[in-house]
Amino acid sequence: MKSNYYCPKCKSFSYDRIHRGIFQKYILGVQQRYECRGCSAVFTNKDIAKNTSLDFDDVENSMLNSNQQG
Ligand SMILES: [Zn+2]
Repeated sequence: MKSNYYCPKCKSFSYDRIHRGIFQKYILGVQQRYECRGCSAVFTNKDIAKNTSLDFDDVENSMLNSNQQG
């Protein structure tokens, strides 16, 4: 399964949406942001769009092998 929806920093597919307040959403027009569960990096849909598609299973496997990185 290919996907580019991963953390740009550590390539983890585990991340949470950061909830926007109603004020930010409708008044400021702030983009949806995401926070990585692995490295706590914050990124947006724009950052995700820049990612190249990776095979989901490959990344999960490589993370198991190089867990100490970073
Ligand atoms: Zn990360």
